[in-house]
Amino acid sequence: MKSLAQFCFAFFVAALASASVQAGEQVRDYPLTKIAPHTYVIHGPLGYPSVENQGFMNNPGFVITNDGVVVIDPGSSVQAGRMLLKQMRTVTNKPVTHVFNTHVHGDHWLGNQAIIEAYPKAKLIGHPEMIKKLNDGEDQQWVSTMEKSTAGFTKGTRAVVPDVPATDNAEFKIGGMTFRIYAPEKAHSHTDIMILAVEDSVVFTGDNVLNQTIGRMVDGTFKGNIAACDRIAAVKAKHYVPGHGPSGDVSVVTNYRQYLATLFSTVKQQYDLGKSDFEMKGVIVAKLKPYQNWNRFELEVGPHISLAVLELEAAM
Ligand SMILES: [Zn+2]
Repeated sequence: MKSLAQFCFAFFVAALASASVQAGEQVRDYPLTKIAPHTYVIHGPLGYPSVENQGFMNNPGFVITNDGVVVIDPGSSVQAGRMLLKQMRTVTNKPVTHVFNTHVHGDHWLGNQAIIEAYPKAKLIGHPEMIKKLNDGEDQQWVSTMEKSTAGFTKGTRAVVPDVPATDNAEFKIGGMTFRIYAPEKAHSHTDIMILAVEDSVVFTGDNVLNQTIGRMVDGTFKGNIAACDRIAAVKAKHYVPGHGPSGDVSVVTNYRQYLATLFSTVKQQYDLGKSDFEMKGVIVAKLKPYQNWNRFELEVGPHISLAVLELEAAM
């Protein structure tokens, strides 16, 4: 079944992608940033998947252990995954042993294919609900959504779905390092895991935290997402890698939490005054002034208000 998220997404995509582009071999190069002794991240551009960005817009990362490389979210296509591997090989020749996928949205996991083509023995790890949803058919929807949004650049990408479940508080000991799982309930997507690379004190938050960009909330809840931010901020890691946007210290988490909490509490206050979502928009946008220059703010703030109203009503 197509989720509301995908319908909205497909609509947006159809508006963007009209011309047809040839399938690509590899996404154009983006630089690696070393953020901790064993940890590197490619910070993708901000925005929706498009012809211009070749569908690439997330933050793939990897951690080099004694035994090999652990990848987190290898991107939105086989072409993105290949670019990640190319950049990885500039700093290590070790094989990829494990891949963590933070959640079900295709911009984070469709790059798995490139990893498995190069390293067939790599273990693919994700939230049990992510594995279930993709195996129930959502995988093909993401493949075609990405292909449409890039006018065919990602053609050849196929779904390679994780088969190792990661549940809350699980720990994976890999090559002398520890990867601890935080699986918040009903946060960004109902399929989320956040991964703490303990020795490097780095958290990969998935889309539970975003920086300089606003995300879609159609698959999540404000309450759950705020709780996820609180929980992962309390870990007090040195470095936080958001699902999209620049990495940084814990302020990346608290800043996004502030956006969510301000929006949600103001919607509640306005709702209690009897305002409709249309009537309350001006007050809410004014309260969110620090975020008005964030990517996608204009596009997402209206839907976020409507979703917050629905969430409030559902809780009554
Ligand atoms: Zn997402």
